[in-house]
Amino acid sequence: MNTIVYSEKEIKCVCWDFDYTILTVHTGGIVQDFIGEDGMREKMSYLASQVSPSFIKQFVYFFSKGVKQCVVTFGDSSFNTEFDDKNKRRVSGDKLVKMVFEAYVQKEGLNLPENVKKALIEMVVFGFLPDWRKNNSSTDEEKEKWRLNNNKNIHLEMSMKTFNVNNSEIILIDDDLRNINCAKASGFNTIHVSTAGYTSFCELV
Ligand SMILES: [Mg+2]
Repeated sequence: MNTIVYSEKEIKCVCWDFDYTILTVHTGGIVQDFIGEDGMREKMSYLASQVSPSFIKQFVYFFSKGVKQCVVTFGDSSFNTEFDDKNKRRVSGDKLVKMVFEAYVQKEGLNLPENVKKALIEMVVFGFLPDWRKNNSSTDEEKEKWRLNNNKNIHLEMSMKTFNVNNSEIILIDDDLRNINCAKASGFNTIHVSTAGYTSFCELV
């Protein structure tokens, strides 16, 4: 296990990517269910079993240090609900993250302290998909903007505003090198997850 050290005084907020960082798998951004409530429950139960144990250990540690934590993801519930209809359920963004954590504390994380369970379920989720990615009929100009701006700096700026912290006080933990490099270039601290799911430990001293 890789241990990373930061100064306790300098870090106030940690932004977690969801797919391939908190989870060892990728949800594709949307969970769809065509067979009703049971199917959805089974799917959430499976995703809960894929929450990285190192993430939980790290979450508990940061929580004990009073560090703010949030999830930053391109999964966007406000976008995908447009496709809802009576026979299908689609869950994305903040809704998906919360359902996975709820399933986790009910099955996998039974031994966690109650305040940790509560913090996990109530973790702030910035689920945001930029407009130009939502539009299938994007122009070439928009596609170029998509390519250049396909990073999480918008999500990180949301975290700065919400938690009233500076970029140098935030760590982004993400498996996508594009997100990492753009965040680094904008003065954020970063931890790149090079395996499917977080396996490191970050210590604040
Ligand atoms: Mg990811």
